[in-house]
Amino acid sequence: MNYVWGTGTHVGRVRKVNEDSLSPLSSGSSSGPVVLMVADGMGGAVGGEVASRVAAEAASAEEASAPMTSEARVHLANTAVIDAARDDSSLAGMGTTLTLVRLDDAGTMHLAHVGDSRAYLLRENELRQLTSDHTLVNELIELGRITTEEAELHPHRHLITRVLGLGPIGVDTETIELRHGDRLLLCSDGLTTMVSDFAIQHLLAAGEGVEATVWALIEHANTAGGVDNTTVVVVDVTE
Ligand code: MN
Repeated sequence: MNYVWGTGTHVGRVRKVNEDSLSPLSSGSSSGPVVLMVADGMGGAVGGEVASRVAAEAASAEEASAPMTSEARVHLANTAVIDAARDDSSLAGMGTTLTLVRLDDAGTMHLAHVGDSRAYLLRENELRQLTSDHTLVNELIELGRITTEEAELHPHRHLITRVLGLGPIGVDTETIELRHGDRLLLCSDGLTTMVSDFAIQHLLAAGEGVEATVWALIEHANTAGGVDNTTVVVVDVTE
């Protein structure tokens, strides 16, 4: 398989600091294996910025002789954030989401995920969300206790139930065989809280290249208010 990716991040229109991180930092292409990710940090002072950057750096580790699984990378990132917080008391309590894919040369995608960043797959113009948000409201929806509409107004809708940096974590994983023509999206919640799945599907299916699509999505988030940092990775899968 061949992978072509575009990446972008923007501080948005309200916040002064961008606490999101991503890897790789620039657009490119590869026949695999390639590891791509988004991380959304949180924590007082500089904690959020540091947490997401430390996680993305640790999870981007070069592979030596054996492949490193996506799940192992997330655990490595978790340990790195915990260690960084232990070394500097001003960083205590910092945390980060991490949504990561490893795409291999045979076309297999290994997804690993913690938090409320998301991965989507556009296949034959149909958009499928591959990750579940680790948020209180999403857990209540899955339990059938509240509706999607109620979640949007819930006073604790921003409460995240699983992040890296605070202790041992459960990592969601999924393996998908990719096909020629598939398009992947990784994004922080700055995109998905501002832009509907309908609009995301429309922009991904518009036929623009990966880089133009990344910036079209970010521009939509900012036009809709840009209340958070927005980070986007788009990958095209070709034979
Ligand atoms: Mn965010």
